[in-house]
Amino acid sequence: TKWIYTFGDGAAEGRATDKNLLGGKGANLAEMCSLGLPVPPGFTITTEVCNWYYANGKSYPASLQADVDAALEHIARITGRSLGDPQKLLLVSVRSGARASMPGMMDTVLNLGLNDETVKALAAESGDERFAYDSYRRFIQMYSNVVLGVSHDAFEEILEDRKADLGHELDTELTAAEWRDVIALYKAKVEEELGKPFPQAPAEQLWGAIGAVFSSWMNARAITYRRLHDIPESWGTAVNVQAMVFGNMGETSATGVAFTRNPSTGEKALYGEFLVNAQGEDVVAGIRTPQNITEAARIAAGSDKPSLQKLMPDAFESFVQISKKLEEHYRDMQDLEFTIERGKLWMLQTRSGKRTAKAALKVAVDMVKDGLISQAEAVARIDPASLDQLLHPTINPKAPRDVIAMGLPASPGAATGEIVFSSDEAEDLAKQGRKAILVRIETSPEDIHGMHASEGILTTRGGMTSHAAVVARGMGKPCVSGAGTLRVDYKAGTVTARGVTLNKGDIITIDGANGQVLKGAVPMLQPELSGDFAAIMEWADAARRMKVRTNAETPADARMARSFGAEGIGLCRTEHMFFEGDRIVAMREMILADTEDGRRKALAKLLPMQRSDFLELFEIMAGLPVTIRLLDPPLHEFLPKTEAEIAEVASVLNVPADKLRQRTDELHEFNPMLGHRGCRLAVSYPEIAEMQARAIFEAAVEAGRETGSPVVPEVMVPLVGIEKEFDYVKARIDAVAKSVMDETGVHIDYLVGTMIELPRAAIRADVIAETAEFFSFGTNDLTQTTFGISRDDAGSFLEGYRQKGIVEQDPFVSIDVEGVGELVRIAAGKGRKARPGIKLGICGEHGGDPASIRFCEEVGLDYVSCSPFRVPIARLAAAQAAI
Ligand code: ADP
Ligand code: MG
Ligand code: MG
Repeated sequence: TKWIYTFGDGAAEGRATDKNLLGGKGANLAEMCSLGLPVPPGFTITTEVCNWYYANGKSYPASLQADVDAALEHIARITGRSLGDPQKLLLVSVRSGARASMPGMMDTVLNLGLNDETVKALAAESGDERFAYDSYRRFIQMYSNVVLGVSHDAFEEILEDRKADLGHELDTELTAAEWRDVIALYKAKVEEELGKPFPQAPAEQLWGAIGAVFSSWMNARAITYRRLHDIPESWGTAVNVQAMVFGNMGETSATGVAFTRNPSTGEKALYGEFLVNAQGEDVVAGIRTPQNITEAARIAAGSDKPSLQKLMPDAFESFVQISKKLEEHYRDMQDLEFTIERGKLWMLQTRSGKRTAKAALKVAVDMVKDGLISQAEAVARIDPASLDQLLHPTINPKAPRDVIAMGLPASPGAATGEIVFSSDEAEDLAKQGRKAILVRIETSPEDIHGMHASEGILTTRGGMTSHAAVVARGMGKPCVSGAGTLRVDYKAGTVTARGVTLNKGDIITIDGANGQVLKGAVPMLQPELSGDFAAIMEWADAARRMKVRTNAETPADARMARSFGAEGIGLCRTEHMFFEGDRIVAMREMILADTEDGRRKALAKLLPMQRSDFLELFEIMAGLPVTIRLLDPPLHEFLPKTEAEIAEVASVLNVPADKLRQRTDELHEFNPMLGHRGCRLAVSYPEIAEMQARAIFEAAVEAGRETGSPVVPEVMVPLVGIEKEFDYVKARIDAVAKSVMDETGVHIDYLVGTMIELPRAAIRADVIAETAEFFSFGTNDLTQTTFGISRDDAGSFLEGYRQKGIVEQDPFVSIDVEGVGELVRIAAGKGRKARPGIKLGICGEHGGDPASIRFCEEVGLDYVSCSPFRVPIARLAAAQAAI
């Protein structure tokens, strides 16, 4: 086996595509060499050695020793230098580098090969004693920390004490002699800590560093990082050993990092920082303030420190040329590390640069314009989830923030408004054209109208899956949940945070991106949906096969979803319409009625309201498909809960409180998720489904008349498990359709279909499809019923399951392809068999999750449906799945 790959002097054994074997850093160093760029020569020990090391009790393949010696020979041939040779001294860096960049890994060791003797050789050769001893002390510090495990602070303390004694402020002020004293103290410290002296033999130093890199693959930081980023342990890390170049060789030397384009805006301009007379991580460590690379950036930043362009024009010019070359070669924005040794530029790293969502769009679109990449490549490069950042107003990053509390970043975007403590107040304010932030201990279904009316929602209790969080995300409203340090006093109308008391009407701002609660108004940046965003979306639309619909029941959501490019409504949950205003009163009357007659009377009051709801949605969707789900939740959700509420409702409805209490008790369920809900309601009380069907068809007739573009309503029956349930309800719907057509003399095209959200329905899909004209996979309930896990109760153990590796991800966030997905596959196949061309879609949270969307494409669904703010994400993800 070939364990080592060399690079240097315009040639390399590896290349950029060898990332799995050489790690990202090693592969790109090799590639840069082959491109003829100035890269100090070196070699990469492969990730396979790392795996060998762990498979064989932390030992090395037998030939590795000889292979490393041969690779050192390779460096010697190019540089004329060898480790430990006082005439022609070679120093190296030892750098870790996995397939994916991993901040949890070992820090780089620089200047390896220095000892009490070779440091003199370095001083003599460079003619700079100060430089030599500065390098040596850096080496002792790094090596002792990274390889020998002596704490970094121990050395910092010694250095700070010395600097204070000597009256120095900066490290660069220390003289050679002063560094020599520091070195003596450092070495004494190491000996004290380890009971043996700092290793002097370069070979021992080198093997120590190589072993430390491999060991670091299993350190706690790296393991945690891998878990958080789904990086498998089997990847392993490579080790890069490379001849040193020196950015700390005086005033004509420097080190720096740069992006080929601006990583926050995407602007096509070299962007970066450097430090004169510095080495390695000094730039990022913040020891001194770094300087701008270009003049333009320096002027923009208002800095009085000279740019690299001004200070070292020749090195700057080569750097500009190289950065252009690398960007063209990799066809992507690059993140570069470089060092200038006495005026000569050396490249030490390149990789594709991390960027904001905004920059990602701009870079991709610009590169298409420049002919560097195709439209499909541009579409493939954007992380769909990152679009979320772009669809909401955000706090101007330059604005000062007066943070009064922290909660969870439950729903993205920022919002400013007056504090209100009830949903009714929020609605009142909205009617007056004022902006409200709804502040609640927690929210419930009865707050829907208030959440709609406010700019943002703040709760003091509840997590990322609390009612407030889930509903706010669905509405695309900013939400901070569980801000536990806030105390809300509804009676007094105050909210208190660490001694600050705010009253109803005071202005606050919430930042749903990071969970901050801020006092007062803060300047915002508005989302920009034209330009680059629109271009990428257009290309995505051209590439995708699946349609993207939205889950929406309010006109505002439907309009917003249209503006985000939704191609219809995939799920209109009618129950939300029964909470608003007078409707809840009629709804409660219906529930309290003792007879069918009584129920029909109450339902007659709801009919015109439902009809006008649907009419408005049909108008907004102008001819696009609209799927309406019949009433789904159990009836007790509509009844008051606390004694105070019961008393209030009793007086509004003019019924005895006892009767209300009694009905509430009757409707009580031990497990409402599996209770009297969905089509079971329609079977027990067909008049409810009939009223809803009538509202749908009458609205369809009217919308057809008004807009001229006839709607094809899709009536959806929820929670079907037994084919006869569906047939029973469908017969009622068909009957209503027929009578509406007879009454109006207008023909209506419509479909009646079902949700597939119970395992039995998936298994009996062929029989159900004999009468059902479409399926919509309700994967929220299907996940609950397949796993037998209630989503509301999963929080207490799912995270533990993840940590123990029993489940890889939350199945409510990303579809469980093997289990729930298999049921979807089965149902899709059976459905198509019984009814070729049957329309298949997915509603529920998974419809907006990129990984789940990929699965939907595989199964060949016709559309996905998601909340309005996820529509652009779904459009892009559907395109990527199809590419
Ligand atoms: P990281 O993975 O943390 O970026 P690197 O291995 O890239 O670590 O090393 C960090 C820095 O150390 C580099 O950016 C560079 O400035 C410096 N460095 C690494 N190798 C050398 C070398 N051979 N000569 C000079 N500086 C080096
Ligand atoms: Mg680096
Ligand atoms: Mg459901």
